[in-house]
Amino acid sequence: MRDNKEDCPHCNANLQGESILKSQQEAYGSTHFSRKIGVYDFFKDRTVKWTCPDCQGEWDR
Ligand SMILES: [Zn+2]
Repeated sequence: MRDNKEDCPHCNANLQGESILKSQQEAYGSTHFSRKIGVYDFFKDRTVKWTCPDCQGEWDR
């Protein structure tokens, strides 16, 4: 299980969100939700970038 340390590379905001209920952590494969926003590329059919909800900065996955 990854430790979910997530910071925005632009403004250093902590992007770790609410903690996930212990009974659901295994389903999510994670202990906390994330505040970062996935940018989905329909041509590549996958999430290619993340956007910071605080500064709107983007970075590659
Ligand atoms: Zn940011």
